Amino acid sequence: MKTIGIIGGMSWESSLEYYRIMNTLVKERLGGFHSARCVMYSVDFAGVEAPMREGRWDRVAAVMIDAAKKLEASGAECVLIATNTVHRVADEVEASLSVPLLHIVDAAAAALQKKGIGRTGLLGTRFTMEEPFYRERLARHGIETVVPGVDERTVVHDIIFKELVLGSVLSLSRDRTKEIMAGLTGQGAEGIILGCTELPLLVKPEDAAVPLFDTTELHVRAAVDWALGLSDTGR
Ligand code: GLU
Repeated sequence: MKTIGIIGGMSWESSLEYYRIMNTLVKERLGGFHSARCVMYSVDFAGVEAPMREGRWDRVAAVMIDAAKKLEASGAECVLIATNTVHRVADEVEASLSVPLLHIVDAAAAALQKKGIGRTGLLGTRFTMEEPFYRERLARHGIETVVPGVDERTVVHDIIFKELVLGSVLSLSRDRTKEIMAGLTGQGAEGIILGCTELPLLVKPEDAAVPLFDTTELHVRAAVDWALGLSDTGR
């Protein structure tokens, strides 16, 4: 089993899920006393959130490159950035490493392709829904993306930053997100990517009429497959 490196803390609410799912999957696969061989470098989210909000992506990239290098120096044989939004700077981070970066969008795209989905809804932060980095990478996999309207995007962004990353999961917000997901289905989405690693804490498969793609689980699954030699993702 190879050692998985995780840049966590964005937020730590979802980093807990990364650690839990990673160990659950390794135990399922290998049984007995097996658990995941991994290293997590958990950043102070305040030092990432402020530059993101101010559009200072060079600063975000610098924090990520520093964390990724520390993981590599600690024995990580691959690196995960445990958030969708920060994949905005994934190319810079990847270029700074000599081990593979396992990209969250590739993990999501593989799952969509398996189900034969060519048009997907996308929920996440405003950056993820509005900036090209996510949509363009999905397009490279032959997948078209639809996002909610501007007001709904603000609602989802605020649910993430004012509630979920602070540990607050509210049923009123779940209801609002369900309505927004129904709207995406109305726009022809055959599935919906939960493109924020905290969204799976709020909505579950039964909350939508189409399949939901949980990027936290899919990202971890891709990493565990890679660590156990069951795939060559990211190579
Ligand atoms: N974890 C979230 C994501 O997957 C949002 C918080 C962040 O910006 O890192 O995008």
